[in-house]
Amino acid sequence: MIPVTKPYLPSREKLSKYIDGIYERQWLTNNGQLVQELTQRLEDYLGVENLLLVANGTLALQIAYRALGVSDTPPGEQPEAVTTPFTFIATASSLKWDGVQPVFADIDPNSWCLNPANIEAAITPNTRAIVPVHVFGNACDIEAIDTIAQKYKLKVIYDASHAFGVNYKGESLLKHGDAATLSFHATKLFHTGEGGAIIFKRKEDLERARRMINFGLAGPECIEEPGINAKMNELQAAMGLCVLDEMEQISGDRQSVTESYDHLLKGRVQKQRIQSGASLNHAYYPVALENEARVMDLMSSLRESDVLARRYFYPSLESVTSLGASSMTCFESRKLSERIVCLPIYSGLTSAEIEMISSKVLEVCQ
Ligand SMILES: *Cc1c(COP(=O)(O)O)cnc(C)c1O
Repeated sequence: MIPVTKPYLPSREKLSKYIDGIYERQWLTNNGQLVQELTQRLEDYLGVENLLLVANGTLALQIAYRALGVSDTPPGEQPEAVTTPFTFIATASSLKWDGVQPVFADIDPNSWCLNPANIEAAITPNTRAIVPVHVFGNACDIEAIDTIAQKYKLKVIYDASHAFGVNYKGESLLKHGDAATLSFHATKLFHTGEGGAIIFKRKEDLERARRMINFGLAGPECIEEPGINAKMNELQAAMGLCVLDEMEQISGDRQSVTESYDHLLKGRVQKQRIQSGASLNHAYYPVALENEARVMDLMSSLRESDVLARRYFYPSLESVTSLGASSMTCFESRKLSERIVCLPIYSGLTSAEIEMISSKVLEVCQ
């Protein structure tokens, strides 16, 4: 079977060495040595400050909302956040779970990210934040989003789960917004099995979040405020340290898969328009076909050869009634979600496999 992605498994030998250390120290969690080491190395690698490791990418979003005061409101008020419908469900469900109503504004049909031109119409007196997604690693229009946020005094939390290692105008994309969150789930570009991180703009927000992920404790006998358990543990950090050592290999492998697809599919499928000034991380290979019927044809043709492509992201989230969003139509997102397919991309995908998959795409696109 060829899945849409495979978790990258780093050197087993190196992982064993880290695990030996964990056994020697007998320290498994609570800001252990490996969590501290990974924090430092990620800050260096990404070129950011104020990075906090957490248990997964969904908690990263929720802690960011809490630390920035998006979800704590006086009784009777219903906080809202303007977000994109073209993303993984966790972006919106994390808001809902935290008592913040997601309000969907439509995407740009070319960049596939939240279109700043649609944000203002979605803002109400209850709006507290904008939660855009650098979808498939493509940088949002951060200047325009920043201008709107300042005008309405809103927090900006970027769901940067797809944007590991992406730079924008010469520095990390993750520096933008009051916070940016990462997911280190096994299927992501860089992973710790399960895991995530928040990059805060301000040190005081980082310090508040650091307490929040440890039950709100400010010391062994000092309970500052209600918190949760969202700590990363040493085994996760050990995996992360090993994967980080091999990032060059991972990126190189994915870049060559991308280049092969690009060569074979040139001009035959619609691709995402990349924001100028932004780098690519090759985390995904999404293509938009002409219509949904072709997507269905491709999915079944691939299935016959045991290839599992995925309809990322379908459905468009404004249509998910349990999220309780008003029936605002997001025409561009809906149209794109019907036409989108993510083709398999991972280290170890062979040229023959890429050719086989590409020929099936070309077949349905005739
Ligand atoms: C993966 C992902 C998440 C959730 O991250 P987990 O680590 O799986 O909790 C959130 N948002 C987006 C856009 C994602 O792709």
